[in-house]
Order: sequence, then structure tokens, then C-alpha cells
Amino acid sequence: MRRKPKIRIWIIDKKTIIVSLFAIIFTILVMSKIALSNKIIPDKENKIKAKTILIDPGHGGIDGGANKGNILEKNINLDIAIQVSSILKANGANAILTRNKDISLDKLINDGGSRYKRDLNARTNIINSSNADLFISIHANCISGDTSENGTMIFYRGKGSPSNKLADNIMSNIHNEFKSLNRNQHSPQIGDYYILRNAKIPGVIIETGFISNESDCNLLLNSDFKNRIAEAICLGINDYFKGTASN
Ligand SMILES: [Zn+2]
Repeated sequence: MRRKPKIRIWIIDKKTIIVSLFAIIFTILVMSKIALSNKIIPDKENKIKAKTILIDPGHGGIDGGANKGNILEKNINLDIAIQVSSILKANGANAILTRNKDISLDKLINDGGSRYKRDLNARTNIINSSNADLFISIHANCISGDTSENGTMIFYRGKGSPSNKLADNIMSNIHNEFKSLNRNQHSPQIGDYYILRNAKIPGVIIETGFISNESDCNLLLNSDFKNRIAEAICLGINDYFKGTASN
């Protein structure tokens, strides 16, 4: 009578151990498969190794950014930014995110300015104190009353500047990746935005698509599209470093 429960406990424990081992092995396999699938740049073409890239997912927390119903820009931006970060890391770069969760950054600044301005100030401070080689700010576009405009837009500051080159490199990879989708192919544009004006390192604002356009909006909610645009962004960053004289 006494031995029976002991045997039962032993059997349950053994089962638990075996199940746990399988779970651990499965998790390791899945994680390494994800890491391997994120390694998109062959070693001999890799110019982002040991580079530091700052990724800024626009908005967050109380600031949802553009919206269509309950679809909020801030969530799309964060998803793509996290994917960019993990691809960069899998390819040997350092990646810093201004936010890695659903928060606004205004509380980091206490200068009495508006919440919106303090949030932008905090992002700019992170960019300028990061020692990063470049930054990308990720957003999604929206035009109220216009459902036809679609496609990715990229803004930079200074014609012929490193930021201009970065914008060109990222855009050509995005065009190349999505040429079969029949989206509008915008050229990079000069943009007069706070972050671009005040950042001391090269950088661009990427408006990944228009949530006001049904087709673009569906793409921005699709994990395959988000992964592919993140890959194109990373390939564009690698192309940027390929062309840098010191590399
Ligand atoms: Zn935005």
C-alpha cells in the first residue's frame, strides 16, 4: 500500500521530465530556425556586422498614431521595428529600439512642452546619445478622405546626404521586394520633420504603407508582409554600408 503512490509519483515525474525535455528541444529548434531564417545576408556581402542601428517605432502608448477603426499605427510600427531588430541582430548588427513595447516616450522629458513634443524630443535624445551609425523611424501613413493612395514613402533630409543615400538604398530594396504587388512606387522625398532636423546621425522616416488604403492596410496587418518589408529595410541598410567609402 505504501509503495503504490511512490511508483505513481515516479511515473508522473518521469513523464513530466520527458515532456519537458521534448518541449525544451522543440523550443530550441524553433528558436534556432527563426534565427537562421532571419540570417538573410551572406557573410561575404555582410556590411552591417558590428554596425549599430537605432530603430524608432513611431508613436506608442497613449499616442496610437494614425488609425482606421481599431487598427492603430503604433502597433504596426512596433511589429515591423521588432522584426527589423531581430533580422539585424541575426546578421551580426547591434540594434537599439527607442521602444520595445506599447509606451509613449514623453515621460522621459520634463521641460514643460506638449506631450507630443516631449515624445519627439525623447526619441531625438535617444538617437543622438546612441552612438548608432544610423537610425530609421518606422511609421504608417494615412490620408483622411483618400482611400486610393498607397505604397511605401521614405523621407530624408539633405539632397545628396548620407540620409539621401540610405533612403535610396532602402527604397530600391522595398520596390524590388514588392514589384509584383502593383503598389505605387514613390521615390524618396525630402521631409521637414522634427526628428530628421534634429538628429545628428544619418537617418530616414519610413512610412511603410497607407492604412487609409484597404489593400495596403491588409498588407500592414499581414505578418508575412511585415517580415518581408523588415527584410527589405535591412537589405537596404546593408547596401548603404556597402557603398560607404570606409567600408
Ligand atoms: Zn506616424
